[in-house]
Order: sequence, then C-alpha cells, then structure tokens
Amino acid sequence: MPPISSDAIVLRTFKLGESSKIVVLLTRERGKLRAVAKGARGARPRYQSALEPLSEVRVSLYGRQGTELYRLGECELIRSAFRAGERGLDEALALSYFAELLDAFAQEGEAEDAVYRLALAIVAAVDGGTETGVLGRYLEAWLLKLHGIYPPLDHCAGCDGPLPDGERRYHRPAHGFVCESCGPASGPVVDAPDHDFLREAFARAPTAVTRSPVALEAFHRDLIRTHLERDLHSHRVMRDVAREIRG
Ligand SMILES: [Zn+2]
Repeated sequence: MPPISSDAIVLRTFKLGESSKIVVLLTRERGKLRAVAKGARGARPRYQSALEPLSEVRVSLYGRQGTELYRLGECELIRSAFRAGERGLDEALALSYFAELLDAFAQEGEAEDAVYRLALAIVAAVDGGTETGVLGRYLEAWLLKLHGIYPPLDHCAGCDGPLPDGERRYHRPAHGFVCESCGPASGPVVDAPDHDFLREAFARAPTAVTRSPVALEAFHRDLIRTHLERDLHSHRVMRDVAREIRG
C-alpha cells in the first residue's frame, strides 16, 4: 500500500521499547493521529529534532485508513519551534503548553483545517519571537472559539441585544456575557483592555496583534477546564514553577 503523505505538526512523543517512539501528530489530511517512529531513540537516533514538540514536518505514514497506530516513514523538518525553547524556561514551558493544548482540543482522525492553520500560525509566530503570553491567550481564545465554546463578544447571552464597548461581564448560568439589564452577572469581568485584545485576536494573525492581554489567563483556564472536564498538566507545572520562582 502506498504511504500517506501529509504536512503535520508534532504534538508529543512517548518512548516505546529500547529504540522507538510513539509520536502524536496533528496532520493536515487526517487530523490527530499516532505513529510509531522506529529508530527514533538510541545512540544514532533517526529523525532527531524533527520530533520535537511543535515541529512542522512533512511525513509519510504507513497503515490502513482508520488504523489506531500508523508507522512513520519519512519525516522532513520544515520549521522548528525548538530554538524558541532554548531561549529560556518560560519559552520552553509555553511550547509544551501550546502542544498540550492543541493535543487536548484536536479531534482524532478528523481533519480540521482551521485548527491546523491556527497551529501553523502559532508555530511561525513562536519561531519569529512573538511574546508567549500573547500567543497563549491567542491560541486559547481561538481553540475555544473554533469548538463553539468562546462566548460571543458582541451580543448579550440573555437578551441577544448588542453589547456596548468596554468591559464584558460573564454570567455563568447563561454561558456568556450579559448586558446591564440581564445582570447582575456572576462574573468574572473581562476588563476593557482584554476585550480590546480579544477583538484584535479574533480579527488578525498572531504576529499582527498589537495589544497584550492583562488578566485573561484565569478566565480562559476556567473555560478550558469546564470544556475538557480536567486540568491540563502544563497548567499545574506552570503554577508550580511560578510558586518556586516567587520563593
Ligand atoms: Zn441582555
């Protein structure tokens, strides 16, 4: 059977036996899938940095359609996010967080072009040196939006009326932002600067966003936790590291 060729982004790898790895890929053609990378470990590893998280690669895969586990053939590195990880601890943690987030949201075996293009834009922005705080909130906002979870910014979740400029008040029972008359909202409040950031994020490429988020992290984390019904490993790691650094 001829191999499947696809562009892909590496999400994570696991060790397999003495000399192999299982690699989780977000492919353009088939969505998220797993493949065995034989010879990926050992004294002279095949593939090398092509299997680092968030590497953009071009792969050939062997296996029947719908198989649980493909076999990785060629894996050509197109773009690496690895250099960003060498810049420091914050960047390295951010990269593994982005990969975990994409892994958590991506559908197994189901191509989602918008998610793939989002992932590519993030890898390019990481490589280009865009601040990781901006990219984290950008990626979260878009993954939530593409999966129908981000509350609409422009109209009230209660009465459907337009919302004015300025802050947004989230109301948990309504799963959205509400106007004055549909309040009082349970919270949290997204302040005006973060609302401005979100409007930019939903309208532009990540490298073209000019504003920085201020306090969106906790709000996004809450939406993600509710959607996935679990905490992400990276969230715990980043929290522990922050605690260590503060002493
Ligand atoms: Zn309303």
